[in-house]
Amino acid sequence: MDSLNGKTAIVTGASSGIGRESARLFAEEGANVVIGARREAELEGLVAEISAGGGRAVALAGDVRDEAYAKALVDLATGKYGGLDIAFNNAGTLGAMGPVNEITLEGWRETLDTNLTSAFLGAKYQVPAMIERGGGSLIFTSTFVGHSVGFPGMTAYAASKSGMIGLMQVLAAEFGSYGIRANAVLPGGTDTPMGAVVANTPETKAYVEGLHALKRTASPLEIAQSVLHLASDASSFMTGAAVSVDGGVSINRT
Ligand code: NAP
Repeated sequence: MDSLNGKTAIVTGASSGIGRESARLFAEEGANVVIGARREAELEGLVAEISAGGGRAVALAGDVRDEAYAKALVDLATGKYGGLDIAFNNAGTLGAMGPVNEITLEGWRETLDTNLTSAFLGAKYQVPAMIERGGGSLIFTSTFVGHSVGFPGMTAYAASKSGMIGLMQVLAAEFGSYGIRANAVLPGGTDTPMGAVVANTPETKAYVEGLHALKRTASPLEIAQSVLHLASDASSFMTGAAVSVDGGVSINRT
């Protein structure tokens, strides 16, 4: 359990779901973890849990739409742990949902700011710290929605999340020569509070499960394990990849 020994990682969206499980797993694998999200109490709870297990973590609450927060997370990583090796830009929202004619410009912008502009802001401050370190791994949470599947009512979410794949690919090309890798994980339906918003009745839950070749949704740990792979040197030749961890939802027609 030491694949991230000596590494320092930022994880956003760590107050819940996939981010929380990834931060916990990173710490278990020996990383110093800097965790972010808006809900401070949830973050402090995770810091306590990681510390009780012998791991190292520090929390900073804030909003990923805020440029100063993106910088502060990197400053905390470098100030407290001496550098930055891994950044999991994972915070996200379903955002403005519904037919496109009913989506307000404000709702559209809020969705893109939370999911896509946050990824840009994160990378903007994470990349220089990784260059200083001689390399690193940037990971973004995208989705199959807007990449391989068009779900009605999800224009803003799909646009923000597929935009993230373009951002990731260019970062991979721009900074590969510095030893920086950039990849995106594309989860299928996952049992988190966000997943529960979509699968909010027994009927919709069964429908969502049935869309997947595996006929079920994922636990957050199943996604976190793939994120760990992208974070660690086990994926040392992977960059620019949009990695589906989706139970076959993107290819399934059954
Ligand atoms: P979740 O449990 O609801 O977690 C979302 C996280 O994002 C929370 O920690 C939340 O923290 C944080 N967040 C949201 N807006 C933020 C903001 N403005 N500033 C800072 N943090 C913010 O959902 P999840 O399923 O783990 O989602 C994680 C990522 O996976 C998202 O990007 C999502 O789009 C993606 N994803 C999820 C699924 C799924 O089925 N669950 C499938 C594909 C992709 P606070 O509320 O404390 O700020």
